[in-house]
Amino acid sequence: MPAIPFIDLAAQQQRLRSQINDAIARVLEEGRYISGPPVTQLEDELTDFCGARHSITCGNGTDALQLALMALGAGKGDAIFVPAFTFAATAEIAPLLGATPYFVDVDPNTFNMGSASLKRSVLDAKARGLRPFCVIPVDLFGLPADYDNIIATARESGMRVVGDSAQAFGAVYNNRRIGSIADVTTTSFFPAKPLGCYGDGGALFTDDDELAATIDSLRIHGKGTDKYQNVRIGLNSRLDTLQAAILIEKLKIYDDEIIARQKVAARYDDMLSDRFETPHVPSGLQSVWAQYTLKLGGTAERKEVQEAARQAGVPTVVYYPLPLHHQPAYRDFPSDPDGLKISESLCENVLSLPMHPYLAEDVQNLIVESLTASR
Ligand SMILES: *Cc1c(COP(=O)(O)O)cnc(C)c1O
Repeated sequence: MPAIPFIDLAAQQQRLRSQINDAIARVLEEGRYISGPPVTQLEDELTDFCGARHSITCGNGTDALQLALMALGAGKGDAIFVPAFTFAATAEIAPLLGATPYFVDVDPNTFNMGSASLKRSVLDAKARGLRPFCVIPVDLFGLPADYDNIIATARESGMRVVGDSAQAFGAVYNNRRIGSIADVTTTSFFPAKPLGCYGDGGALFTDDDELAATIDSLRIHGKGTDKYQNVRIGLNSRLDTLQAAILIEKLKIYDDEIIARQKVAARYDDMLSDRFETPHVPSGLQSVWAQYTLKLGGTAERKEVQEAARQAGVPTVVYYPLPLHHQPAYRDFPSDPDGLKISESLCENVLSLPMHPYLAEDVQNLIVESLTASR
């Protein structure tokens, strides 16, 4: 039996091979490698897919966060509230722009930013003389954050909300797709994300015409009405034409893939929920299952389960082994005065299982057996 992949990009490639080859060939024939027609075509299709007014593609999901914070005008003295349990990119842009990342704890069931912790953190940031500037909730592992409560708390202090949806493009929050819920939403097309390209890529979504125009200018060196006029300091952050052409083909099957991911997750739930703490999806929300993550009872048990899986040839991954406020680069930034206990404990308890739309039932059965063999 071939090795079980954690994410099977080869199966998807097989399904789309001829369409993707043709799309690449068309880009090579046309020769417009930067800002070619597929880029605007993809942006229009992303807009249709998620329901936001504007889609602006860019170089990667981290640049998308940078473009969002630059467009909003973040700088020195500004507190930018981020969860402690996330990938480092969420917190990375605040200090790059001279602002202060402020770490907020997460909810023990959804693993997403907790609104009680956010409230405490905003008060504490003010007491420290920081200006509450914006909140960056993360739709971790594909599950939308608690936007209603977070947006309400943000507005009380005049803050904007930037949704880091790098893992959750296509997810649903109360009958709306991620993209028009936060003031600005960012996503990533890194290959392993639910909608990935064959290299780096990213995008921003917003309903705000003015913000969209500023982001469009910022991603091309702060261009004015033409690209040789510079009205602000910007970046060079564009999505390659080739990646846009590939994403157009992948987007055509993305709805279908989301349904397949949800089926895989439901089967894991059925087979594992009597023995493990399986993921919690609040009512009204739909995850796109970037990860399927169990919560175990501590590092010893996790090691045991992980080792049993490894011996059966089943790959598992710990996302994330360290909360951001314990990372050397982020240790000195402020955090919830009551501590970040849930983020810390999740780092000791979580374990992510193989998850992708092409996971066959017999392989999934094998994965489940390997996990339960240890108990
Ligand atoms: C992947 C990821 C990013 C960054 O995306 P890149 O395209 O790799 O730059 C940001 N935030 C979260 C939560 C991510 O998972």
